Amino acid sequence: MRPWLGAAEVEALTEVIASGWIAQGPRVAQFEEEFAEAQRAGFAVATSSCTTALHLALVVAGVEPGDDVVVPSFSFVATANAVVHAGARPVFADVDPVTGNVTGATVAAALTPRTRAVIVVDQGGQPVDLEQVRAECDPRGIVVVEDAACAAGTTYLGRPAGAGAEIAAWSFHPRKLLTTGEGGMITTPRPDWAERARRLREHAMSVSAAERHASVLAPAEQYLEVGFNYRMTDLQAAVGIVQLGRLRDIVARRRSLAAEYTAHIAQIPGLRAVADPAWGASNFQSYWVEVGAGFPLDRDGLLAHLAAAGISARRGIMAIHRQPAYADGDHGGQPLPATEHLTDTTLILPLHHELTGAEQARVVNALRSAAGLAGGSDPDDPGRGRGEPVGAGRLEGGGAYGAQH
Ligand SMILES: *Cc1c(COP(=O)(O)O)cnc(C)c1O
Repeated sequence: MRPWLGAAEVEALTEVIASGWIAQGPRVAQFEEEFAEAQRAGFAVATSSCTTALHLALVVAGVEPGDDVVVPSFSFVATANAVVHAGARPVFADVDPVTGNVTGATVAAALTPRTRAVIVVDQGGQPVDLEQVRAECDPRGIVVVEDAACAAGTTYLGRPAGAGAEIAAWSFHPRKLLTTGEGGMITTPRPDWAERARRLREHAMSVSAAERHASVLAPAEQYLEVGFNYRMTDLQAAVGIVQLGRLRDIVARRRSLAAEYTAHIAQIPGLRAVADPAWGASNFQSYWVEVGAGFPLDRDGLLAHLAAAGISARRGIMAIHRQPAYADGDHGGQPLPATEHLTDTTLILPLHHELTGAEQARVVNALRSAAGLAGGSDPDDPGRGRGEPVGAGRLEGGGAYGAQH
């Protein structure tokens, strides 16, 4: 992943700096409105990250110490950390071995008498089948929170991901499609939850700082409960507004690059590429490939082969229950065979907005040579030999290369 940033972001930032108001203010309000509209989401509340958005979402959904929250282990560690920050216990559910997402059945198997909420994840931008999970949870009064960190531009049942959730959390880390450097968002159709989240992210002040500073004699604020400082800045929001305008192009480009990878990978025995599920369209935030038993190399072997060709791929999605922070705890004891299989056998290929056809052909050729097939996804490919690294970050000025996101 490499963020797609340009002169428009620079100009937007310059305006904010010239305005003298850089903390949460009018740009954050505008970004919230535009994001809610784009996601058909009712209300949007900007935060400092998706991790803090998930924490707030759990708090406003009523999760308290002593509760259980079911989450996939097959996710970035922040999904489970947010549960711990809310004082609750993460209980790990397995995922479907094809999509990498939880299902109604894997969630139902992990429910406990103390389950207050479930976090479903649109993993790598793949839409989770939310309705299946809500069919298990709604009748039991269990709130389903959608971790849509990766899902800007993904659709589910013909609507933007997150639009059907009681509450969803988004990320604007540069590893995702839209970026503000760091940043996050909560979306919800519930005005009461939006209002409480808005207050809690800003120290639970009764009057926002932006409102107080807009008047000469500032109205006195009260602190209604113990809140947090989870605010986004106007600097970040100004970038976010420009980025949101790029979303359609980013998704179209990523889907076209993904389709190109998929056509070639279908010709390579032993590899399986992530694909759209029946119920939606992925933004391919992470384009992952499963290295099957029929492939001559295992996953780590293929990563090494790609690296030797100057191609920087990444291990697939992590399994949280294997990390030292969680390995020794009691997290429900569900068997997690699909999670362990996918985390051991998948890798993520380079894919970003400005990836060129020649760079992509080099990745395909390296996959083919690892499989023992003749190279040449494109006989005219000028980058067939070992050229510039693909998928590694270009550090400005120095011409040095390093891993990025
Ligand atoms: C990136 C990510 C997060 C964390 O997002 P931040 O904005 O970095 O806090 C949470 N959940 C998932 C699934 C993610 O991919």
